[in-house]
Amino acid sequence: MFRPGSDAVRQGLDMARYLVTGGAGFVGSHAVLALLDRGDEVVVLDDLSQGHRAAVPAGATLVQAQLSDRAELARVFANWRFDAVLHFAALSLVGESMKSPMHYLAENLGNSVRLIEAAVEAGCLRFVLSSTAALFGKPERIPIDEDCPVAPGNPYGESKLMVETALAWAESIHGLRYAALRYFNAAGSDPAGRAGEDHNPETHLVPLAIDAALGRRPALTVFGDDYPTPDGTCIRDYVHVTDLADAHLRVLTRLETHGSCRYNIGNGEGHSVKQVLGAIERVSGRAVPHSIGPRRAGDPAVLVAASERLRRETGWAPRFGDIDKIVRTTWAWREAHPKGYGDR
Ligand code: UDP
Repeated sequence: MFRPGSDAVRQGLDMARYLVTGGAGFVGSHAVLALLDRGDEVVVLDDLSQGHRAAVPAGATLVQAQLSDRAELARVFANWRFDAVLHFAALSLVGESMKSPMHYLAENLGNSVRLIEAAVEAGCLRFVLSSTAALFGKPERIPIDEDCPVAPGNPYGESKLMVETALAWAESIHGLRYAALRYFNAAGSDPAGRAGEDHNPETHLVPLAIDAALGRRPALTVFGDDYPTPDGTCIRDYVHVTDLADAHLRVLTRLETHGSCRYNIGNGEGHSVKQVLGAIERVSGRAVPHSIGPRRAGDPAVLVAASERLRRETGWAPRFGDIDKIVRTTWAWREAHPKGYGDR
């Protein structure tokens, strides 16, 4: 049977085909766009529990299924031959993980282990994991490099560390090559406006503050202003989601010729909560209504990445590192999409 994207056609065109779990979610959908933009073929596996059908671009194939469904996973790997798996699908809220720790560990580890197993069985030996700065807990030093000791301060971070460990076993026993990308604070939206950030419930600072400025939400609560930082509010390293997507393309290329790797990804510059609110006011000309509330459990004072290893080994450099660019692209998407993807 001839179908576009068949192995023969792909060989002629030098295309690659990727399985992207969670490709209907925030970071996943931006990675799908980046892959399609460079001419690759993408199959998205997403149960749409958090992702959005409309976030999957027309050029990608969507398989709506749960990662817990072993038979479905086997069918997907039997149906297509993938050059690599990009694994975004996960529960990812620190606060929620503090309330339901076993649920987080079981879901994130169980689903990932099943996925790794299915990939190995199908002979797909390249894997990119969406990991997190939450591995580092209260970090020993700032900025945080890859040699900083890991000590997750919450079950979400712990679950990702466990998945990294599972990948290391798959590497040593099955020869799987993987990249673990520890994102710092993913933010921003596709600069061309094709995708954006739409969580339900929304818990992230930038979209919440923008919606408060747009009058769509009540005033933002700043979680604590008594941290040991210059203005007392938490400092984070906000990295543009399109730059994150670009990092995925670069590590996929690197995995062809090099072994497994772990990278911390951020701009290397921290911004306090108050500085983010300042950026929103600068970019939009509107005030962000807010009040100061208590600290949020599990929040370290400062998380800033050292991404020199990623830069040196893959040539990655953020194109949208400036906090104003991050805010501007989010503002544009949310202003244009008052109901987000409109499916909730
Ligand atoms: N934050 C806040 N109010 C909110 C949401 C977040 O003050 O309503 C703070 C939070 O304490 C943290 C920063 O904003 O210091 C970024 O939080 P977010 O939830 O966006 O990302 P996280 O750091 O949890 O990955």
